[in-house]
Amino acid sequence: MAKVFNCKDFGGECNWKCRAETVDELMRKIVKHGTIKHNMRGMSETMQKKVRATIRDAT
Ligand SMILES: [Zn+2]
Repeated sequence: MAKVFNCKDFGGECNWKCRAETVDELMRKIVKHGTIKHNMRGMSETMQKKVRATIRDAT
């Protein structure tokens, strides 16, 4: 099942959404988005856990 991620679930004003076939693919896209839009430099393990917790199955 496809996975979706909404940046808004992090509590910000960002409307970015992402969808991918696997969690790993989605994570790569999220890291890229975070780097470009949120000045993130890499993703810590804690951050990755938070991100993974907000990933949902596509409906
Ligand atoms: Zn965002």
